[in-house]
Amino acid sequence: MQPERIEQQIRKIKEELVSLGPMRPGSLSRQYSVCGKPGCACANPDKPKKHGPFYQLSYAHQGKSSTRFVRPGYVPQIKKELAAYKRFRQLTQTWIALELTLSQLRLEQARREAEK
Ligand SMILES: [Zn+2]
Repeated sequence: MQPERIEQQIRKIKEELVSLGPMRPGSLSRQYSVCGKPGCACANPDKPKKHGPFYQLSYAHQGKSSTRFVRPGYVPQIKKELAAYKRFRQLTQTWIALELTLSQLRLEQARREAEK
């Protein structure tokens, strides 16, 4: 690939990074629970109706893992933030790969010029 093309792609990545909205790392899971109270619907032996769903958000930051519950009404917003973070990671990984290619091209060009 030509350096100009690569530089153009990097510019596009930078533009998209600037336009990313709120983000957060992590993953969301849906859980149901059994309370253990006798006679509760969740303990029905034929058709147990478990409590929930509860939404649990797990994430790691600086080597520390955390988990917290999220209110159902806030789930759409959290999903958006998780998606934005995924996109952020994707873009930065692509950016790094492009920079490596670019740097390699510059090194090769410098070597060719030194050999002249
Ligand atoms: Zn129950």
